[in-house]
Amino acid sequence: PLKRKLYTETLPENAVPGISDSGVKVVVRMRPPNKEEEEGEIIVQKVTSDSLSINGQTFTFDSVANTDATQLDIFQLVGAPLVENCLAGFNSSVFAYGQTGSGKTYTIWGPANALLEENLSSDQQGLTPRVFERLFARINEEQIKHADKQLKYQCRCSFLEIYNEQITDLLDPNQRNLQIREDVKSGVYVENLTEEYVSSMKDVTQLLMKGLSNRRTGATSINAESSRSHSVFTCVVESRCKSVADGISSFKTSRINLVDLAGSERQKLTGAAGERLKEAGNINRSLSQLGNLINILAEISQTGKQRHIPYRDSKLTFLLQESLGGNAKLAMVCAISPAQSCKSETFSTLRFAQRAKAIKNKAVVNEV
Ligand code: ADP
Repeated sequence: PLKRKLYTETLPENAVPGISDSGVKVVVRMRPPNKEEEEGEIIVQKVTSDSLSINGQTFTFDSVANTDATQLDIFQLVGAPLVENCLAGFNSSVFAYGQTGSGKTYTIWGPANALLEENLSSDQQGLTPRVFERLFARINEEQIKHADKQLKYQCRCSFLEIYNEQITDLLDPNQRNLQIREDVKSGVYVENLTEEYVSSMKDVTQLLMKGLSNRRTGATSINAESSRSHSVFTCVVESRCKSVADGISSFKTSRINLVDLAGSERQKLTGAAGERLKEAGNINRSLSQLGNLINILAEISQTGKQRHIPYRDSKLTFLLQESLGGNAKLAMVCAISPAQSCKSETFSTLRFAQRAKAIKNKAVVNEV
């Protein structure tokens, strides 16, 4: 196994240039109540910019986005810093966590019809198109600003789905059951996964449309719309520059991961049998492993005591291990409904969010 960067080693804030010791940024986003919920009781209220109350209990995070928060607000909270972190050379990820119907997909992609719109300023656009719009604009600025050093960026994207503990290439859905590999040179990667170069919003939109149309949604007797897969959109951003004065070249690489997790609700197995039952167990494996790791990492950050971290126990945690306590900046958007009918799942999401808050990642600029 590779030697992992030590997340327990604590450095004073900004002690070493290029190393960031920040924790996980946790944003809770509350979607507006739907028609049915409007008739029932609303039990979650935003209290301050970073706290909310539910049944008289107060929870504090980095930020709380109320029901009226726009897609642009979420971009400014999470997306814009992600782009700047990435350009500074840090690996940067956003995870959307929450029960089915809480607004994860809305947050990460936006409604499907908004993606189809050529008009990129559509209010409904989710984080991903906004992140790439900003990324390309900033790359352009940086290349002009550092033209004397011949600064050049190159971006390549991949899009995969983890479903039933199997990885499918969403850009080439004939490629199923892909394997995760790890080596010293490349770190953790998915063997044979399609990677496409992108240099404009048009390129990214095409990839997103293609990949999203290849996503599958499992139908159960409980919830036909339930999203039972995890999807991961990744962009590797590489930059090269040359200093005219000393003729030395430098090479920086960082990656962006945008992750739409499967619904976090306890799988109700009513009516599920055979494949569906197995699938429910496996989907739980990736999510429950994520929960486990968050608990372990939170404990390590709090006590400073090392212990084994079972990254390889699920596809999701193996693939995204770098984002979890490793070399990455991580933002977690935890999506909730304000309604009484979602109370127990909302509590469970808020507890997950609190534990995530306790993790310390250690992000390092990958520069040679
Ligand atoms: P999930 O991905 O968590 O299953 P969705 O993103 O599909 O949930 O959201 C469920 C429904 O609620 C969708 O119809 C979506 O458009 C709507 N919705 C979610 N969040 C918001 C929001 N912040 N504002 C308006 N509508 C929202």
